[in-house]
Parts: sequence; C-alpha cells; structure tokens
Amino acid sequence: MTAPSLTTTLDHSEVWFLTGSQHLYGPETLEQVAQQSQQIAGMLDAAGEVPVKIVWKPVLTDSAEIQRVAHEANATPHVIGLIAWMHTFSPAKMWISGLDALRKPLAHLHTQANVELPWADIDFDFMNLNQAAHGDREFGYIQTRLGVPRKTIVGHASDPRVQREVGTWQRAAAGLAAAKGLKLARFGDNMRFVAVTEGDKTEAELRFGVQVNTWGVNELAEEVHAATSAQIDALIDEYEQSYDVVPELRRGGERHGALRDGAAIEIGLRSFLEGGGFGAFTTSFEDLGSLPQLPGLAVQRLMAEGYGFGAEGDWKTAVLGRIANVMGAGLPGGASLMEDYTYDMTPGDELILGAHMLEVSPSLTTAKPTLEVHPLGIGGKDDPVRLVFTADPGPAVVVAMSDMRDRFRLTANVVENVEPRAELPNLPVGRAVWKPQPDFTTSASAWLTAGAAHHTVMSTAVGLEAFRDFAEMAEVELLVIDEDTSLPQFQREMRWNQAYYRLARGM
Ligand code: MN
Repeated sequence: MTAPSLTTTLDHSEVWFLTGSQHLYGPETLEQVAQQSQQIAGMLDAAGEVPVKIVWKPVLTDSAEIQRVAHEANATPHVIGLIAWMHTFSPAKMWISGLDALRKPLAHLHTQANVELPWADIDFDFMNLNQAAHGDREFGYIQTRLGVPRKTIVGHASDPRVQREVGTWQRAAAGLAAAKGLKLARFGDNMRFVAVTEGDKTEAELRFGVQVNTWGVNELAEEVHAATSAQIDALIDEYEQSYDVVPELRRGGERHGALRDGAAIEIGLRSFLEGGGFGAFTTSFEDLGSLPQLPGLAVQRLMAEGYGFGAEGDWKTAVLGRIANVMGAGLPGGASLMEDYTYDMTPGDELILGAHMLEVSPSLTTAKPTLEVHPLGIGGKDDPVRLVFTADPGPAVVVAMSDMRDRFRLTANVVENVEPRAELPNLPVGRAVWKPQPDFTTSASAWLTAGAAHHTVMSTAVGLEAFRDFAEMAEVELLVIDEDTSLPQFQREMRWNQAYYRLARGM
C-alpha cells in the first residue's frame, strides 16, 4: 500500500483544561479545587467520544497566570483549544487580558464536581467549594462582554451527552487548526464564467488561515509524465486489491492503457502535493495541459485519504473538504465534493441525486467500488478512469461556502442518504441519493434564497453540530436548513445576518 504523507489524525493534538478560582478560600480549598478539577478533566479525557487528549493545567487564581497560559496556548501549535471551568468563584476581571490575548478556540464547561447534593450534610464549606452555578455565570458575563466566541457546554462530565458535545467541539477545533496550516494548490483557474466558485483568497487566509495559490497545470503534468513503469505497476496491484476492476482495464485488457494513465496521474499528483506540503487542491477540465485525462480516480482516492478537493477551480469547497476530513478523523464515513445534480420530483417523496463528473470520494461507501472507464463529453481528453459506487444510506450533511462580498457564508442542509429507487446501470460515476430536511420544497427554497453553491462538501462522518461549532470559532456565518427550518424565519435570519456581520466587523 502507498503510505499517505498527509496527516489526518487527532492523535497529536491537545486541549488544555483550565480551572478558575481565587485566593479568598485559602490553600485547603484550592487543593480540593485542584483535585476535583483533575478528576473532571480525567473523566472527559477517558471518555470514548472525546477524541483529543485533555491536559489539566494548575488552578488559575490571578490575572498574570491567566495571561501566561493564554500566551502559552497561542504559541503551542499542537494545542487546538481550551476548556475553562470556574469550580469556585473566579472574579472575572482577572480574565480580561488573558481572554483578550487568546487566539485559540474556547469551550466554557459549566459543570460541578458532584452530581447530587449531599442534602443531609451540606454546610457552608461545601457551598464555598462547589459554586460553579454562579462562578460560571460571572465567567459567562465577561466572555460576552468581551465578545469572546465560544461553545458553552452544560452538564455533569459523566453525562454521555456532555462528553459528545466536548468531542464534537474538539473535532471542530481540529478542523480549524488544520485550516490554519493549510496550503492549497490550484491547477488552473476557475471554470470560465462561473460565479459561485469565485471568492476572496485574501479574506480566506485571514478568516481560515489557508494559503490559496495557483500553479500551471503543466508543472503537474511534468510529474505525471515522470512516473515510472515500476511505480505504475505497483499502484495497479493496489487498485486490483481495493476495487472490482472491469476486465477491459485489467492487465491484458484492451483499455489497460487508460488505467496506466490514471495511475500515472495519481503518482504525479501525489508527488506534487507531498513535495509542496499541500493538503487541498483544485483542477479545471478547461485547463488540463498535457495531462492525458481529467483526473478522476486519483482525485477520488486522495479525497478518501484526507485531502480537500474542489472541481472547476473551486478552492472554497476544497478548503471545506479538508476541514471536514479532519473533523471526521477516525469516525466511520467520510467527506466528499458533492454537487446537487438532478431530482426525482415525485410529489411528497422527492429525492436529490448528487454526483460530479468523476470526483466523488469513495469514503462515502463501505462497499467495494468498481473501477471503470467511460467517455467524458467535456475536457477534450482521453476517457478518464473513475470509481463507481453509491453512498451508504444514513445521516449526512451537505455544506456549501459562498462569498457574499464582505464575508463568507456557510449553508448547511441536514439530509438522509437513501438507496436509489432502482439500480443505476448506466450512470458511470460515484453518487449519493438523499432526502433533505425538513422537506424538499423548503430545503431547495432556502438553499436558493441563501445563494448557496451547487458544489458542497457532503460529510457522513460528522454532522451539523461540528460545522456549527466550527462556524462559531472561525466567526463565519452559518445558515442551517434542518428539521426546524421554515422559510419565512430563514429569510428573516438572512436579513438580520446581513446587518449583523457588517456591524460586527466594523468599518
Ligand atoms: Mn461542478
């Protein structure tokens, strides 16, 4: 097997656990605060649904310590976020400079050490120790007063729902951390005359941290042409193990040459991306230079390994794809470029058929894809090889990014992937068939009203909550179409957002 060089794992990241208190209660109480907050941090760290290591930090009791820990977190690359809990009362003016300096995502955990009150024994020492009920309110005030974006998680640390929320927030923080270090390579520009794939690359680097730059496609083609026969043979062995390769593409088959070209494209693309440290890329069928085919199979496999990809120069969707792959690391399912393609408009039972020319990630299926070759009417190149499959049934979310001139807008629709109503013997691409929430008419009306793109990322590994947490920490607009959406309310929210985002950014 080819060893992927792109890291799509949460194993090397950390989240720091901060506990707020003060000196008022004396050293004995502070000792208890330290012990109990270590237990809370340990309980979360041990939970199966909390994927990122939680590291407990000594109890914070004054402004200088809080500033120091904020600066240290900022300067430590593998720290992707902080969880803060005020076990006792921590006068919040001591948090002002630290929170102002903090550049990493924050979760405010509103919990306490005990589940039940010891009703028969409760005395005032107990009250002094266990006062998050108002200590966290003081902390909530200062965060809101300072405009600190954060996720607030309420409940006991032993509650599976709380653990899930912490885990999802960690995944979103990992997605943001991946975006901050992301280098994206565009081969060619956007598809000519297409509007929604355009966007402000300067704003993208400021907002998400991603560097978006373009290379001439023939620089890629040079690496493709440099692929050796031995490299191609090894990759074809891997294809034969992983997929049902149609006879005409197999060794000795009459179109085996097309598969060798596809393998050379994968080798060249991988070499270019690894050489430049890229985690996402785009192609354009209008600008293929001396590539023999539009990259299909190679793109599908790279997406499944964790790369972000956008077709037709769509770098915004490629950014989202990389983020979604990192957020879903280690979970069943995956993330892929998707395009709302065509509908079954059976009244009351409408379905959306999503696909692309070629480039849908096989991480959406647990079945063995077939590896096929078919003509492609556009691009003017040889027939491209591609993996053909249908996405597994189950919950999914589709998310699009549009550039609204003064900001990016994410639009997410919660959907359910379903089995197609019949076999699709003549549809030679990877695809998904889904039912959108709350219903087809509301979903499509809201999507069109939002100006959301035809390209999306479909995630079957993480759901809406991860994207909500991501949008909050990246301070980017997110419009949600789910079971609670009604069109009039959605339109009002859009109008309010229009004003809010202009005011919030200042002049
Ligand atoms: Mn497209």
